[in-house]
Amino acid sequence: MAKAIDHMRRVLQNPLEAIKREAEKKMLGYFPMSFPEELAYACGIKPIRLLPYQRQPPVEADRSVQTFVCSVARAIWDEAVRGELSFLEGVVLPATCEAARYLHRAWSFNKPHRYVEALSIPYKSTGLAQKFVEKELMRVLRGLESIAGVEVGDQELSKAIELCNQNRRLLKKLYELRRSESPPISGADAYAAVCSGYVLDKAVHSELLKQAIEECFPRQASAKSGPRLMVVGGCLADDTLFKVAEDAGATVVVDDLNTGLRSFWWLVDESLPPLKALAKWTLEVLATPRAQVDKRFEHISKLIKEFRVDGVVFAINRYCIEEKFDLPWLSERIREDLGIPTTYVELEYLADVAPIRTRVEAFVESLVR
Ligand code: SF4
Repeated sequence: MAKAIDHMRRVLQNPLEAIKREAEKKMLGYFPMSFPEELAYACGIKPIRLLPYQRQPPVEADRSVQTFVCSVARAIWDEAVRGELSFLEGVVLPATCEAARYLHRAWSFNKPHRYVEALSIPYKSTGLAQKFVEKELMRVLRGLESIAGVEVGDQELSKAIELCNQNRRLLKKLYELRRSESPPISGADAYAAVCSGYVLDKAVHSELLKQAIEECFPRQASAKSGPRLMVVGGCLADDTLFKVAEDAGATVVVDDLNTGLRSFWWLVDESLPPLKALAKWTLEVLATPRAQVDKRFEHISKLIKEFRVDGVVFAINRYCIEEKFDLPWLSERIREDLGIPTTYVELEYLADVAPIRTRVEAFVESLVR
């Protein structure tokens, strides 16, 4: 395995250790997505995208958050109530799905952190919506400035956009290596590269990505010739599904996940005034469930063609109603309009993986025939 990828994998084995190595920095948590990290970087605060990093089943969480909230969100909340996230100055919870809204209520009421912000993002992407989001971002920025004790202007924001865009470009480049006939990097490794960026500093992560891309080029392309899969869904807590699919003989060549490709695929427009550009980006990213289903289909179709996908696995957490609303229509369109077979697995954080393995193996087998 390439050294840089190996390093990113090790970061994910113990993300809290990687976070604590930078304990001197002020840190902000956010979940699930659509938060422009630039706001935090501009203030000198390190943003951490929250996922369940402790790999413990949620126990305490059920006292203060509904059990019909998806297990990834409940596991994060469990870490917060157990005091495992005390290194954070606070959290921003963009209201992109029901789970994030429930989490915001629980966080505001129980107050494991003093600074708790929601970020409202309208469903429509009109001019008015853009102005509204700009105001929302300004409000959050003011809060972060007071935590950091700084005042931020366009210059700091533009610098932060440059930093984050460079990271997005590198991730895109790494993903695009998997367009080739024999991808030099597995789906599980590419996904680990994305997720390690949720806890590492952007500059450090970008250096690792550059190294990973260089290490991929002279590598012998994988000899695997199994079916090329795409994984579609909301937030995956880890790479288990990728490993299951690749153990079954397939290669995951691309995904459409909140925790995967959607987190870096779109760049912030550096030619616009920074706050306007960040508002535009916040509205453009196809986050669950803001994205209209026809736009999602357009985006997924493009990826299917570009990455020459043979089959699509919908991997959706139990109670992720937003993804489940889109599933029947999207799945039918992919099968009927594009002629690509699909399957569906329901995920639950830390649940037994055996039934999922059986289903994915059968799907991969059906693609080989
Ligand atoms: S998996 Fe679905 S419900 Fe859970 S946080 Fe992600 S988008 Fe929201």
